[in-house]
Amino acid sequence: MTGVPPEREAAAARARALRREISRHDHLYYAADAPEISDAAYDALVRELAAIEDAFPDTVTPDSPTRRVGAPPSAAFASVRHASRMYSLDNAMSMDELDAWFHRLARDVGDRPCAFVAELKIDGASIALTYEAGVLARAATRGDGKTGEDVTPNVRTIRGVPRALPECARPDAPQDTLFEGSGPGEWPALEVRGEVYMPRKSFARLNAAQEESGAAPFANPRNAAAGSLRQKDPAVTASRDLAAFAYQVVDARRLGVTTQSAALEWLRRAGFSVNPGVETCATPDDVRKFCRRAEERRHDLDHEIDGVVVKVDSLALQDELGYTAKAPRWAIAFKFPPEEKTTRLLDIRVSVGRTGAMTPFAVLEPVSVSGSTVGRATLHNADEVERKGILIGDTVVVRKAGDVIPEVVGPVENLRDGTERAWSMPDLCPACGAPAWRPPGEAVTRCTNSACPAQRHERLMHWASRGAMDIEGLGDEILGRLEAAGLVNDPADIYRLDEAALAALDMGRTKLDGERITLGPVVAATIMGNIEASRGRRLWRAYFGLGIRHVGATVAEALASAFPSVDSLAAAGEDEVAAVEGVGPKIAASVGRWFASEGNRALLARLRAGGLPLAEERSAAERPQTLAGLTFVLTGALDSLNREQAGAGIKALGGRVSGSVSRKTSYVVAGAGAGSKLERAVELGVPVRDEAWLEETLAAGRLPEE
Ligand code: AMP
Ligand code: ZN
Repeated sequence: MTGVPPEREAAAARARALRREISRHDHLYYAADAPEISDAAYDALVRELAAIEDAFPDTVTPDSPTRRVGAPPSAAFASVRHASRMYSLDNAMSMDELDAWFHRLARDVGDRPCAFVAELKIDGASIALTYEAGVLARAATRGDGKTGEDVTPNVRTIRGVPRALPECARPDAPQDTLFEGSGPGEWPALEVRGEVYMPRKSFARLNAAQEESGAAPFANPRNAAAGSLRQKDPAVTASRDLAAFAYQVVDARRLGVTTQSAALEWLRRAGFSVNPGVETCATPDDVRKFCRRAEERRHDLDHEIDGVVVKVDSLALQDELGYTAKAPRWAIAFKFPPEEKTTRLLDIRVSVGRTGAMTPFAVLEPVSVSGSTVGRATLHNADEVERKGILIGDTVVVRKAGDVIPEVVGPVENLRDGTERAWSMPDLCPACGAPAWRPPGEAVTRCTNSACPAQRHERLMHWASRGAMDIEGLGDEILGRLEAAGLVNDPADIYRLDEAALAALDMGRTKLDGERITLGPVVAATIMGNIEASRGRRLWRAYFGLGIRHVGATVAEALASAFPSVDSLAAAGEDEVAAVEGVGPKIAASVGRWFASEGNRALLARLRAGGLPLAEERSAAERPQTLAGLTFVLTGALDSLNREQAGAGIKALGGRVSGSVSRKTSYVVAGAGAGSKLERAVELGVPVRDEAWLEETLAAGRLPEE
């Protein structure tokens, strides 16, 4: 082509590549809820594209990602056309950009007073809530800003979203100081906007459950919130523990309010949950202070925030300022600097877990990310390393997923110098040298040697861990020393330890004078005490501590209440185990396999020899309280049960025993020679039962069917 400057051609090509890449990420983010890159990296791509389009306006295409917001709605939900468009927000990526926004604003506002509202920007999914006649009629996702998805049944399960608005929030309610003008006598149709989010704790719980059930964890709380909101089954949404903050009333002036801060006040009164992190700021300087404070405190909150939304407080000024094609001019999102750092990937090593799983992890040049130093990051499995395309020696981008778990995002390929080398999963276990095996179709490579010292160590650590048998003092180091000394090979050995031998345990270090350091009598005595205490732990802790695959703490509890001894669990058929609530066939099969192993059965026998009962009597509090609220009177001579036993049995099931019959008596249990109490029962119409009936009740743990 003639007459086209070469830099324009290059720019256009780059813009095309960027558009392709951005729309791929849009799809991953919106449609698949599985983003590959961070928001910061995504923003960087969009900004680069915008810069090219600014410089070469004729390269802009109508469908450029810079011209639109979000993604088309998926076919799984009915689409909803938003009555008024859900705009995106312009971003200020630094204080300078925030200042630039203040300056632009000052040009339009002149010397009229202009207050701001600064609101923490919650990292979740936005929703539009339509109230008709004061009742929640529809909830929709943002979608592409014009059309969203109808997620009403799901949103009805979220706390903080009122299903009906209270009378006291009606614009014509009498007591008002908030509303300057009074609305009509009925509820106007109202649209409230807000953000659905997942609190950090719920996110952690959800991901733990995802992992326990073998499902992929969510990348961050925002994706978890968006994914949970877009469930076909509202019961699933309800189980996800979502929360919501409302931050906007569309056309709030119809309620008579004139400022954003008053609109927030109204939302609070109407029963919405409103972010407490909101401040009305008289000057830009106050806004800047708020932003700085928010950034310092961001990790203290129970939910994630990614910045601060700054809004012009006056609704009249907002109307005057209006919108660009994409965003309001009266608001801006100040984004916290991306908490991504680059550092060197020094090595990739492999750790061996208690099931033999070989997990690659990154050894990094230590770097500070989100307030702590990161030197290691898991890489999950070989596919993940390949997908990330990282080489040993690369400069890599590091961040914390969900602000907690260190993660390698990917390499900075431009910084390679040719000395980098590829990594692959070793063929042999790094701990024992046994062959590693990756079953076809599985992501995980395992060490095939069940006597592998690394597996043994992890199994012992798991047994002694706080969540299992909780033996304080038996941690990584001391267990490692005990294994090295040949004193402990499996959990049963812990219960055969000798205090003197423990005290003399070589800790592998020497004092200045060359004398070997040993564990010593004081620590040894403490640990012996902790071991002793662990003999009395609840049965589920042992079930969990054995490290049976798929038996997490929750499953272990369910198993222990159905099978109160290892013998009963070992004897149970797989379908019996599978029938336990919360267990199912996959776990039952795994339990079956575990008990089928002779080595495992020998371990149980040795544990028992070491003083662990591996069974528990169901104490009173653990029996289901099926007789709660019922009162029994015992009268006459009971044959096989004495009165005391019968009374204790009733109480164990939550029932009460009384000495006299009244209208409130639920049952009179009459034995031979019953006299006046029986008569009184008949008189009052209180049901009378015999001893066999009571025995049956106590044995079954509930009233017999009649
Ligand atoms: P962005 O997705 O970066 O364009 O930012 C706009 C989004 O920020 C909105 O669609 C909302 O979902 C979200 N957001 C979170 N908190 C607020 C808030 N207090 N005010 C307005 N938008 C908010
Ligand atoms: Zn091994």
